[in-house]
Amino acid sequence: FPAAASPLLANLNPEQLAAVTLPAGNALILAGAGSGKTRVLTTRIAWLMQTGQVSPGGILAVTFTNKAAKEMMTRLTAMLPVNVRGMWIGTFHGLCNRFLRAHWKLANLPSTFQILDTQDQLSAIKRLMKQFNVDDERFPAKQTQWFIAGAKEDGLRPRDVEVRSEDDRKKVEIYQLYEEQCQREGVVDFGELMLRSYELLRDNDPVREHYQRRFRHILIDEFQDTNRLQYAWIKMLSGQTVDGRFVPGDSSVIAVGDDDQSIYAFRGARVGNMADFVREFDVQHQIKLEQNYRSFSNILDSANALIGHNTKRLGKNLRTEQGPGEPVRVYEATSDFAEAQWMVEEMRQLARDGIERKEMAVLYRSNAQSRVIETALFNAAVPYRVYGGLRFFERAEIKHALAYLRLLENKDDDTSFLRIVNFPPRGIGARSIELLQDAARAAGHSLHDAVSAVGGKAGANLSAFVAKIDVLREQTVGISLREIIELVLDHSGLVEHYKADREGADRIENLEELVNAAESFVTQEGFGRDAVALPVDELRQSPASQGLDPNRPVLDEAIEPLAPDAETGETLSPLAAFLTHAALESGDNQAQAGQDAVQLMTVHAAKGLEFDCVFITGMEEGLFPHENSMSDFDGLEEERRLMYVAITRARQRLYMSHSQTRMLHGQTRYNLKSRFYDELPEGALKWLTPKNQGFAPSAFGYGGGYATSRGAGGGSSYGGGGFGKESFASPPVPPQKAAPSHGLRSGMQVFHNKFGEGTVVALEGTGDDARAQINFPRHGVKWLALSVAKLTPV
Ligand code: ATP
Ligand code: MG
Repeated sequence: FPAAASPLLANLNPEQLAAVTLPAGNALILAGAGSGKTRVLTTRIAWLMQTGQVSPGGILAVTFTNKAAKEMMTRLTAMLPVNVRGMWIGTFHGLCNRFLRAHWKLANLPSTFQILDTQDQLSAIKRLMKQFNVDDERFPAKQTQWFIAGAKEDGLRPRDVEVRSEDDRKKVEIYQLYEEQCQREGVVDFGELMLRSYELLRDNDPVREHYQRRFRHILIDEFQDTNRLQYAWIKMLSGQTVDGRFVPGDSSVIAVGDDDQSIYAFRGARVGNMADFVREFDVQHQIKLEQNYRSFSNILDSANALIGHNTKRLGKNLRTEQGPGEPVRVYEATSDFAEAQWMVEEMRQLARDGIERKEMAVLYRSNAQSRVIETALFNAAVPYRVYGGLRFFERAEIKHALAYLRLLENKDDDTSFLRIVNFPPRGIGARSIELLQDAARAAGHSLHDAVSAVGGKAGANLSAFVAKIDVLREQTVGISLREIIELVLDHSGLVEHYKADREGADRIENLEELVNAAESFVTQEGFGRDAVALPVDELRQSPASQGLDPNRPVLDEAIEPLAPDAETGETLSPLAAFLTHAALESGDNQAQAGQDAVQLMTVHAAKGLEFDCVFITGMEEGLFPHENSMSDFDGLEEERRLMYVAITRARQRLYMSHSQTRMLHGQTRYNLKSRFYDELPEGALKWLTPKNQGFAPSAFGYGGGYATSRGAGGGSSYGGGGFGKESFASPPVPPQKAAPSHGLRSGMQVFHNKFGEGTVVALEGTGDDARAQINFPRHGVKWLALSVAKLTPV
């Protein structure tokens, strides 16, 4: 296929061209940020279809966010006249949901199964622990949630979890009870979506073989952040295990990734999947892309220098031909408030320079930082959107409305039942609910079905509630999704309830927005691809499923959205489709979608995206790197990768800022500026406020137990404004000397007489003050004063 033959291939560099036109087979594309990985993946899909090598139904493409999936589909439609609706492009969760919707019977789920988001999951666990009198001091619900999610990410059912202690045994028991509860209620959490579809593929030969035949080309973006189960799922779709060894099948699997952007280890991501992939899939083609098309070199040099401080890397180069561009601007504020103020001013200037607001992004390490920024933007009447914070569908009032809707769809959904049984308040107390729960448990019924077992006034109130729901359900027959939602808003008493609340106006607005969300879901999204039902329950009666003709394709390749069950004509209701959408929608799509607005998000949420101007805020020790991760070597390397992701989002202009004081979680913190500044090339930076002058607020004695800012190494300075000056009572500290005399570097291996060998994790201070944080495998992480500790490099 000569390049000139297809305009699709114009403008690709030779490595990109090679990747796009790879022959069938498994391949890994390993390349740094902004080198066109995602673009290559999209172009390859278009090229495969254009050259007739695959039909749309034969493609499976996995993206990291819903937003990325939409983006990919938009680009594909721009390249080719193809109906992307039937294509399997989405996130792991979205695709698994789609798969389970198609095979709900085989997956042992009700056709109306509902998805528990993280919040719902936590409340389901809390409820369960209360019911079984589990000590929540010893087994905090949050931890239990992590335990369960972690087990599922590793593909482990309760019986598979290794029990090493009495605590483990208890946790496994809760896991088991939780599973039973979910099954009874017909709900699945995010991990379950993945695990259950994996198990179905594993255990059902005809289904697995069907999909293996169907998906000729599997393409996975952001492969470095796949977890164990996701990798196993891909293997299940593309090969088989013979005598304990994986043998790849005939499909072509292309994995695309960047080890330097692996930032989800805390959620089970396993960068080792890349090496395993190369080995197990017998990868013949490995392509590196080394040209960055996104950023000017001041930005790229900063990213390269920073990530160069990491030791665990596969090693890649990245260059740009775009020239230096503007320097990276660094700003020190006196307070988080002043930082936000400065940012708003800067944005005004950018807007005057003709930059669209949607091309300005504010990135922060943790969600809690967004409030101050939001306030400043709001006060300055600058439109903004927050990604991935509290999703629209996670707001309390929306959750309440959704719970009513879910209960209409599935009466056994006890999580939803409990959320609204007494909301708005209708005189049903905790005691009545306990009685009901006992009765339900004794009878093996859902709460809905058990109300008649409760007597007295409590029973009468509960029965009235259930009757109300049942009447509403009857009334929804034959009316549109919009009308259903309006009906629920009117008759649930929610709107009424918030009207009486002095601060309820916003909530009512949001509830009204829910009607709009449903409306646009139906018209624009065509019920949303995530929720689409496929014409596939025919597997039950197909000859292949009975082992008659395993070679015959079971399913039709041309899949239409919302196609009914081939035999019964059954299809997902618009309400069910909408509820699924609500659970899976990452919030990318909300409200002011069309408006030109500044984009706010965490660094995690920014992966894969790009903007003309990027502000990285809160560049402070304890915040970025985050206090939870900075004390161990691996944690710090992950923080650095996060910082690398943040820097490489910027096309033209990059800002970094930090603040001397910050209110966070109700406490004033006095943070030192981030160590990451010291890892950037001085020549690429421009300090907007004086650097290393004035004095650093010492961390000692401030901030109520906040112990991040050890030592007094990095000098901070006063920037603009006088805000907060009075708060500093500590003496001036001399600026840091240029070169440390101890000769240690982070990542270095050292020997200590008592603790043995260890790895330098961090260094702070100079001269007599110099301290090193060292991770000793046998003794843990320690801070050592270098004037005292005897350390020898090994
Ligand atoms: P990340 O690691 O951040 O996900 P990526 O490697 O996926 O980045 P892309 O988002 O695909 O990179 O590409 C980065 C930018 O460079 C995009 O705007 C893309 O359109 C542009 N780009 C990629 N290749 C080329 C090319 N050959 N010519 C011009 N622009 C290109
Ligand atoms: Mg990408």
